[in-house]
Amino acid sequence: MSEAEVRNVIIIGSGPAGYTAAVYAARAQLAPLVFEGSVTAGGALMTTTEVENYPGFSAGIMGPALMDEMRTQAERFGAELVADDIVAVDLTGEIKSVTDSAGTVHRAKAVILAMGSGYRKLGLEHEDRLSGHGVSWCATCDGFFFRQHEIAVIGGGDTAIEEATFLTRFADKVTIVHRRDELRASKIMAERAFANEKIEFAWNSEVAEIKGDEKLTGIVLRDTVTGETRELPVTGLFIAIGHDPRSELVKGQVHLDEDGYVLVQPDSTRTNLPGVFAAGDLVDHTYRQAITAAGTGCSAALDAERFLATLE
Ligand code: FAD
Repeated sequence: MSEAEVRNVIIIGSGPAGYTAAVYAARAQLAPLVFEGSVTAGGALMTTTEVENYPGFSAGIMGPALMDEMRTQAERFGAELVADDIVAVDLTGEIKSVTDSAGTVHRAKAVILAMGSGYRKLGLEHEDRLSGHGVSWCATCDGFFFRQHEIAVIGGGDTAIEEATFLTRFADKVTIVHRRDELRASKIMAERAFANEKIEFAWNSEVAEIKGDEKLTGIVLRDTVTGETRELPVTGLFIAIGHDPRSELVKGQVHLDEDGYVLVQPDSTRTNLPGVFAAGDLVDHTYRQAITAAGTGCSAALDAERFLATLE
């Protein structure tokens, strides 16, 4: 492609949001150019096993297989997919430019941002390997797999407490592991957890080790005051210590909220910059599901399509 060519739309990101935007934009004859990322093309679901809550797959589907379907669908309608990272953007002018890792500049009238967000990890050995085999970052996604299990939830904020409370629908016992001796969560959430007979607390505790070969078999907790360790024999570990939207690339151009999520105008995917749209977990504090990311990816393509029509 020549540097002078100006595309209709460039999509940055390849999770459910990016690929869905690509399907819609391609079917609208906009010939989208999609940057999928070099290492994590396909997005968050590439790191998981079975997905049981994505509509249309009654028997469930493996995360990577679902993403492969979305990718093939986008390609089928003419989306151009590139497994590379965008390392710089200039989104402020009428013609937007994005630069890939080789330094090539690509230009377009509209850009859809769908870079997702990363779950914060504990940074421990076996954490990634046991993801989908007992280790999870999403109770809504995986809680159902943990009926009659004993589970640990790591964190002390609202999300951790909400996840722990939700998991008591399935688990026999849920231990909330928190580094301090009191919760950061709101009082009402905390009280709900204290009143729940299935929830126990491991105060002043951090995870020192994750154990298991094929599946998680337990974690080792270290007392943050005394340094003593003890093993907690759990078969589920939910890590709820936050997530980081991948918005660094657009910081200073696109308006972000205080947590770094891209801000969009109400009932739309429009950012503060005309012709720049955002979708998926990059925007979403609240729902953070494949289907909601796909939904807003669709909205972003429709918004981009309407925007481009106003330029004609
Ligand atoms: P992502 O899926 O995060 O995709 C964004 C992708 O964009 C990145 O991975 C990368 O490839 C690309 N990218 C980022 N920056 C750049 C850049 N600069 N240049 C080019 N490309 C870039 N949800 C469910 O509904 N059901 C489940 O069962 C489920 N299970 C999950 C299991 C795990 C282990 C995880 C981590 C998440 C799970 N989720 C599940 C949540 C779901 O995966 C996310 O909500 C969804 O993937 C968000 O989609 P997205 O398109 O916004 O972003």
